[in-house]
Amino acid sequence: MALRPIVKYGDPVLHSPAASVDRVDDSIRGLLDDMVQTMYAAPGIGLAAPQIGVPLRVIVIDLSVGGDPKQVIKLVNPELLERDGEQKHEEGCLSIPGYGGSPARPLRVTVRGLGPDGEERVYSGSELLARAFCHEIDHIDGLLFVDRLSPLKRDLMKRKLRKRAREGWEE
Ligand SMILES: [Zn+2]
Repeated sequence: MALRPIVKYGDPVLHSPAASVDRVDDSIRGLLDDMVQTMYAAPGIGLAAPQIGVPLRVIVIDLSVGGDPKQVIKLVNPELLERDGEQKHEEGCLSIPGYGGSPARPLRVTVRGLGPDGEERVYSGSELLARAFCHEIDHIDGLLFVDRLSPLKRDLMKRKLRKRAREGWEE
């Protein structure tokens, strides 16, 4: 396993749709493990492959941030099967450090994808888990939480983020 650098807002890989995975093989399992390790180190509750510069439809989520092994979700080619209700809570993103926003999200979702063994997995989640699924699936569609804010907030934040990206994210 290896820690991978997290790419930041402005990198094209974050702003374009990622490709589906054809086959869940050892390289994908290695990618999933690297993503989990990178997520824990950040620390964060979710990470999508484009955030480490890999344009594939692969996500990991762990609301316990490593505290409870049963909570780790590793999902390949995830898709939203069902969504209902609405919630709005502050979200952050490891690719936009220091910024937050409250996009509208479904209150409950059902998600289908493939696990590390290549077998189908279906998850249902509400509240924070629903937000995490939507946030990470947005990433593989090339969308960030900023893109889902109201037009006024979105334009204001995008202007700041573009400036920040030009200047460089390194502190
Ligand atoms: Zn994010």
